[in-house]
Amino acid sequence: MGWSREFIEKVREATDLTDVAGDYGDTKNAGPGKVKMNCPLPNHSEKTPSHYVQKEFFNCFGCSEGGDCYKFIQTVENCDFNESVKRLAGRAGITPGPDDWVGGSDAEDKRKDLFVAVEMASAIYKARLPDIENKEAQQARNFLRDRAPQRAREQALGEMCEQNGIGYSYPRARGLSNALTKELTTKLTEYFKKTGIKETEIPKKIENTLKRAGLASEYEGNLTDFFFSERIMFTIFDSSDRPIAFSGRQLPGGRDPKYRNSPETEIYKKNEILYGLNWAKKHVAKEDRIIICEGQLDVIAFRESSLPVAVAPCGTSITENQVKKLARYTNNFILCFDSDNAGQKAANRFIQWEEKYNLQIKVALLPDGADPGDYLAQNTLDELVATVEEATPFLRWRINRILEEEKTETIEERVNAANRSLQIVRDHPEEMYWDDYVRYIGECLGHEYSELRKKFDKMDKTPERKTYQPTQPDTNSGTPQVLVKQKKPKPADKETKQSTTLALNVLSLVLHNRQTLEQGELLPNKLEAMFFPTSPLSKVFEALLASQNLNEAENLIKDAEEEERIFLKLRESKPDNLINVESASKKIGELLTSRVKNELNQLHNDAKESNNLEPIRKLGEVHNAQNVMQNDGYNIFSPEADFLIEWLRERLEK
Ligand SMILES: [Zn+2]
Repeated sequence: MGWSREFIEKVREATDLTDVAGDYGDTKNAGPGKVKMNCPLPNHSEKTPSHYVQKEFFNCFGCSEGGDCYKFIQTVENCDFNESVKRLAGRAGITPGPDDWVGGSDAEDKRKDLFVAVEMASAIYKARLPDIENKEAQQARNFLRDRAPQRAREQALGEMCEQNGIGYSYPRARGLSNALTKELTTKLTEYFKKTGIKETEIPKKIENTLKRAGLASEYEGNLTDFFFSERIMFTIFDSSDRPIAFSGRQLPGGRDPKYRNSPETEIYKKNEILYGLNWAKKHVAKEDRIIICEGQLDVIAFRESSLPVAVAPCGTSITENQVKKLARYTNNFILCFDSDNAGQKAANRFIQWEEKYNLQIKVALLPDGADPGDYLAQNTLDELVATVEEATPFLRWRINRILEEEKTETIEERVNAANRSLQIVRDHPEEMYWDDYVRYIGECLGHEYSELRKKFDKMDKTPERKTYQPTQPDTNSGTPQVLVKQKKPKPADKETKQSTTLALNVLSLVLHNRQTLEQGELLPNKLEAMFFPTSPLSKVFEALLASQNLNEAENLIKDAEEEERIFLKLRESKPDNLINVESASKKIGELLTSRVKNELNQLHNDAKESNNLEPIRKLGEVHNAQNVMQNDGYNIFSPEADFLIEWLRERLEK
């Protein structure tokens, strides 16, 4: 079933294909009512235009594809016929009436409820951001105001959030945990009543819709939306501007991870969707370049700038699928990442696609630790755009990385640096660049050009370019290395790592030694979710507690990346033969102490930052109790432990 014949013809009538084609590339006049362009179809790329378009038809002499407006949309957007009609209707501003869709059991129709539900959720999140009675929402507004483009900082924060689909999710505590589910249930009840579904069937239908849309899941027998708590909510749109999912960014001092995304659903495929593509694609044809960044705020910053062509993957590293999709719009990619290790790694991933998709890549790295959103706290949009305009060509950027990384004091070191950098030039597909870069390397290292060129000419291309493999640098033979050396972990990372290891140990106890814990009265009284250092770890603990085994626990938490990683580690964990009540109790005491320590550090940092020392003046007792615990073998049954538990509870409820 699908659109009625009348509707299809009405949309066709209202569509001018020469205009539509302009969305996918530059068009040139080719006679009356006719334009030509470089073929925009995914399987054909060309440098001189042989793709001709008229009001109703297109015809490509290069790949001999041709057809009407619907065929065109189906091919360039990789969608089915019904979807192509829908998109062109939307483009022409035609809203379908109830009689325009014939039959109702089509897959697209089934997905419709999901789009409706996500759109409702987006509206609810948006409405929560301006809630002046909620002090956390105020924090979210301040955060946005600090990082938002000038326009929003000065006055129109609300307007900017409305236009970009930004909202706020209430904290899970304080009885608000099911606020979203409740509001959505009310709205969906009204919606389903109008569609003529029997009233008795509506509750089941709502439950089904919320689960399928990734908006709620079943937890201990109830439908709950515990997924997002106290986060700035970015609505993720598909390329037809429909809301399909959310990405929640933590507030300063909030629980990790920094970004948390909706679970994958029928309408939200994480490895295909790019945040911001719905906005960027309208400008890419004109700009003939696209900016790839890391986060939602980055995309929005560019959207407000004079270069509104930025996109970002949502919650995953960029995938080949996404690169392929972007390469259909333009071959000119600008990577705009944080210049830390993660950002450099992300940039290096593109090596594998450079040749395959004929990409011209440039890298615009922002100062260490700053993503474009943070960058805007100190700079203007024009300065951000200027950074992108001065982006370094990918090959030069990679050579610079190697020269920075390698020591170049002794002759041997310089030879090694030369070998590594020459090799990546040799591996580059575009021969035209080779000589200039050999010269460049010579200049940087003080080597004679003719010597380097001789060496270069004897080099072979690296067999099977495994450029993203984290192999050990082999400094003696000068094997090409593209990967950036790992920096030493900062003390903070080390601390987090320690408390995570500890937490995993305790989770493994809950999994393998439940009986011991219960007999020793450690469970359920002496171990609580709040002892765990991150929210995913707490959640896994709660899920384990509510289940009989690992599979059951895993089913309670679906499609949350961090949690999945934890479950994976738990699967690998082995029961400890030597465990007894005493050693288990010690581990739990240690976990509590470490959690308190982190909280204290946080308080001290906050106090330092805000120059308000008041909150840390009364912490003497907490420090004492923590020291006693530490010196006393982490006794979880001690009065100090009770005191710390109470303190932590109060602190977290604040
Ligand atoms: Zn073609």
